[in-house]
Formats: sequence, structure tokens, C-alpha cells
Amino acid sequence: MQIEPIKTAPSCADDREPGILSVSEARRRILQALPELRGEERIALRSALGRVLSRDIVSPLNVPGHDNSAMDGYALAGDQLPEAGFLDLEVIATLPAGGRFEGRCGPGQCVRIMTGAPMPAGTDTVVMQERVLALGENRVRIGPGHRRGENVRSAGEDIAAGSLVLAAGKALIPADLGILASIGVGEVSVRRRVRVAFFSTGDELRGIGEPLSEGEVYDSNRYTLHGMLTRLGVELMDLGVVRDDPAALREAFENAAKVADVVITSGGVSVGEADYTKEILEQAGEMNFWKIAMKPGRPLAFGNLGDALFFGLPGNPVAVMVTFYQFVLPALKQLASGRPWRPFVVEAVLRSPLRKRPGRYEFLRGILRPGEDGTLEVESVGQQGSGILTSMSRGDCFILLDEEQGDLEAGTRVRVQPFAALV
Ligand code: AMP
Ligand code: MG
Repeated sequence: MQIEPIKTAPSCADDREPGILSVSEARRRILQALPELRGEERIALRSALGRVLSRDIVSPLNVPGHDNSAMDGYALAGDQLPEAGFLDLEVIATLPAGGRFEGRCGPGQCVRIMTGAPMPAGTDTVVMQERVLALGENRVRIGPGHRRGENVRSAGEDIAAGSLVLAAGKALIPADLGILASIGVGEVSVRRRVRVAFFSTGDELRGIGEPLSEGEVYDSNRYTLHGMLTRLGVELMDLGVVRDDPAALREAFENAAKVADVVITSGGVSVGEADYTKEILEQAGEMNFWKIAMKPGRPLAFGNLGDALFFGLPGNPVAVMVTFYQFVLPALKQLASGRPWRPFVVEAVLRSPLRKRPGRYEFLRGILRPGEDGTLEVESVGQQGSGILTSMSRGDCFILLDEEQGDLEAGTRVRVQPFAALV
């Protein structure tokens, strides 16, 4: 008698599956589906950190405003500097930062000058204090070895009046706040923030403070999502936990889509009895795809609910974070700025071997550190299950192993994505 092999459905455990999307194709489809974010507001500089400029900033000023001294020292006309021997000069004034010198500095004269003070008329060079010998009350001696123009910062060398300082689409970092202040700008026009609604799904989920019965778990995904979204500076709407009930889920989907640009759920996207996410996305909106050849995080439903983008993330806590960082973060960054998103990836040397079966892209959690010669080295955090959330806390990077990659030996160069760059 011949035994028929049993027919099985594609599953999370398969390494290869026909028709499943690659990580890069899934990301491409997501970034292609982004709408344009309209709307801007004017805000004070102190509130502008992380916000995205909606308009170009052109400088009304030169920075610095005048040629000025980069050192505490003596300002003089550089054509007198001695090539050999000494030059003695009369000190005709002292000029602090913010001070003014009305006169003119002639040959044989110099002005004692402090850092930041404007260069007196007739001078183009500052000899630093430590290189000058005081001869008496108002006389100093300078030796050879100086260069005409040294220790002078020229007007507009950082920012020229009329030049483009910061372009629309720039997300403001601390340096930008300082730059804006330096040109006297106290308010900026910024793009409105992306509105993100999120909720967890699952009958087994309980809130902190509630007792846990057997089989129940605390809803942790909403907290990791809260953290990741807060760092991205989006406007957050936490819609709580929704039961595994098609009517309740559909209502939650529709309500979320009314108030948000982006709706994010976790759980309920696989093929279990209570996994309704895909079905409801298809009924209430449109599904773009729901499976990616990656580990962890194979099921990820992406589509739209009316004008809102929809991400149905998996339920497993590590899978939520990996899919968020790999797909939701690029979308939110690009939506917020209107600029293309680029991943920050560096190379590191593996400290110990890794097992990997070809088929799916894997995002292992690793620990990155410099080796003895300073080269970056990386090793796995150890346990890599999609429920081992502590791996995301102990690790500080993803080790990126693409679809076709097999086992790796120690010493192999691998690509890693530091968590620090995922903000
Ligand atoms: P699911 O995709 O809904 O089948 O969930 C997969 C696994 O993730 C199950 O073990 C769930 O209990 C767990 N899970 C789902 N949602 C959450 C959540 N919000 N917090 C913690 N664990 C969750
Ligand atoms: Mg579930």
C-alpha cells in the first residue's frame, strides 16, 4: 500500500513559500503607497526639536556678522609680521567681545582683543596671547612664525546672508535650533505631525493591575509601540485592547481610520481561529499584502482603510518590534518629512558562528562592540525566539541576514543595523 503524503498549508515554519514577498519588495510597496501629508503650523523654536520644516529657511544675516577674533590675543596688520627677529608694538586699546573700537590701528600698533570681538579697522591678523611677550604697560614683542590672517573668523564664514540654511523637509536636530537662533529666527513653520492610532487585539490580553488567569498575558505590545512611536514624535492615539470579535474589530478599525493617518494593530494576523485582521482589512478597506519572507514577523498585513494606512503587526512581542522598525518606521519617517528614507547599516565581524537556513530574511538581535583593534564586532544575544522580548533589551542592533544567506562562521563580515539609528 502506498502512503499519500499529507497536504499542508504554508506556515510560519516553512523556509520557502511561493508567492511570499521579500523584505525589500514589501518595503518598496509600503513606501510607494504613502500619501502626501498636508498641513503646517507655526511653532516656537523651543518646541521645534524633531519637527520637520515645511519651508526653506534663508538667512537674513551673516554669521558671524563681522570679521572677529578666534582667540584672546593681539590684533595687528599682518604685513608687519617679522620673518626673523622681533617686532615690538604699542598696545593702543583693549577690546572685549561685544566691545567697539572706533579708531584705526596703524603700523607699529596693535589692539589687545578677546575671542569674538570684531577686528579693529587696520587689522587682519590675531597673534594669540601665549605667543606674545609683554614688555611693559603698553608694549608687546612678537617673534617670527606667524601667518597673515591667522586666528580670524571672517564674516559669513558659517552662514552667508541670503543663503539657504535649512531646507524644507529637514527634521530639526539640536544643532538646527542653535543655527536658527543664530540668525535670529524664533518661530518656524513645520509640517503637521503624523497621527497614529494603535490598539492590541486578543481575548487573552489583560491590562496592568488586573489579575492574570491561566493562559492570559499582560498586553505588552501597546507599551513597546507607545515607546517606539513616542520617539518618532508622532501624535499618538492609544485605543486600548479590542477583543477577538469580528464586529468589535471592524468597529475599531473604522473608528481608528476616521481619526488617524496611520492605524497600527498587533495580533490576529496569522491563520488561527481568532485571527480576523486580514479578513476585516479586506472588508473595511484594501489589503496590499500580508506575508513577508522574514523571521521573526512573517505575517504582516499592510493596506489601507479609506485614506488611512493600515499595518496589522504580528502578536509576538519581538515580531512587533522588528516589523515596526523595518516597515512602519520607514513609512512614518518618510510620511513625516516627505523625503526618502534610507536605512543606516554598518559592517561588523561576527564573534561566533551563526546558524541560518536559506529562505527567509532574519533579523537577529546582536550586541555590537569594538574589538581589540577597534574594528566593530558583533555577537548574537543568544535566545532568538519571537517571544523573547528581553533579546530586544539586551541587544543593541539587528544582525541582518538576507534571504539566501546560510550558516555563518566566526570572522565573517555581516551587516548590522544599530538600534540607536532607529529613531
Ligand atoms: P496572535 O498573532 O494574535 O496569534 O498572537 C501571537 C502571540 O503573541 C500569542 O502568544 C499572543 O498571546 C501574543 N500577543 C498578542 N498580542 C499581544 C500583546 N498585545 N502583548 C503581549 N503578547 C501578545
Ligand atoms: Mg491573537
